[in-house]
Amino acid sequence: MSTALTPGQHALLESELRLARQRVELALKAQLDGQGRVAHAAALLADDPSDWREHEADREVDQARSDRLLVELGDIDDALMRLRQPGYGRCIDCAAVIPFDRLQRQPQALRCLDCQTAAETAR
Ligand SMILES: [Zn+2]
Repeated sequence: MSTALTPGQHALLESELRLARQRVELALKAQLDGQGRVAHAAALLADDPSDWREHEADREVDQARSDRLLVELGDIDDALMRLRQPGYGRCIDCAAVIPFDRLQRQPQALRCLDCQTAAETAR
């Protein structure tokens, strides 16, 4: 299966993915630093479960946020890896070439718009 992208498009997406990765990594680092403080406070309060409960809510919000960032980071790494393979830029469901403007907006895209919509509707 030949690649759907020109070398120029390929290079552009790769640099965009690397930039996106840096952004997410920084956000994740900031998030984890904040969480470290919360975890420390929680450890101090661990003897008193009633205080702990208040902090639990904060912790869950933080956890959800860093989970989302981790998923995003995984998607980007995934896209970077797939970018090096010949099938990149093709829909994983119907093998149609994914339009470059879609890839530019969303380099992690695995599917053409039709299949993506179908996948999201089925969920
Ligand atoms: Zn498709």
